[in-house]
Amino acid sequence: MKYPKLRELKEAIKALIKGPYTTKYPFEPYTPPEVFRGKPQPSQEGCIGCGACAEVCPAEAIELKDIKSVNSAERVLVWHYDECIFCGQCARNCTTRNEKIPGVIMSQEFDLSTVDRKTLVSQEIKKELVMCSNCDTIISTKEHLLWVIKKLGAKVYGNINLVSIISEEFLSFSGKLKFKQFNQRENMFELLCPKCRRNILLFDEYGKI
Ligand code: SF4
Ligand code: SF4
Repeated sequence: MKYPKLRELKEAIKALIKGPYTTKYPFEPYTPPEVFRGKPQPSQEGCIGCGACAEVCPAEAIELKDIKSVNSAERVLVWHYDECIFCGQCARNCTTRNEKIPGVIMSQEFDLSTVDRKTLVSQEIKKELVMCSNCDTIISTKEHLLWVIKKLGAKVYGNINLVSIISEEFLSFSGKLKFKQFNQRENMFELLCPKCRRNILLFDEYGKI
């Protein structure tokens, strides 16, 4: 007869006292450990719509749409869980990851089985877009620019676009005007994309340097 080794005996006694290591899932709910990476959970409140998560997602599971209409423009972000590989890169690289409410976190939810893939999507995150006053090129979302303003403090006054956002947001001054004539120095304090600002700073009203 073969006798059990001491180590096996120790494990058997431990299991008798503590119970088995295996769980009764799916017959009983299971709570994974804290570090477990379940489905990414975006937050409308915490997200600023910067789009960094969509840039770093290796599976391209985050859809980012910039929708422009006559009077407004918005950015829509959606997580597609049927394409997600639960790597956690979106949460790790989220711009607001250290804020009180992060833009996206890895939840502990793992039981996502379904027969309809279309249901495997997150809530839509919608953010207002800021566009160039001259050519309508998208600069970023308003919340992203306000977040940058909060982080920079007094250094904000080194950037004309951010000063324009402050004027609009806190002094109720609307900088959204269409230029009758572009390339005028007086227009340099408007919200402009890098290309239009370069044109204003480098060229005269006749388009010459
Ligand atoms: S967990 Fe990974 S694959 Fe899933 S959405 Fe985030 S970055 Fe993309
Ligand atoms: S704040 Fe975070 S979740 Fe929102 S768009 Fe930026 S990186 Fe993505």
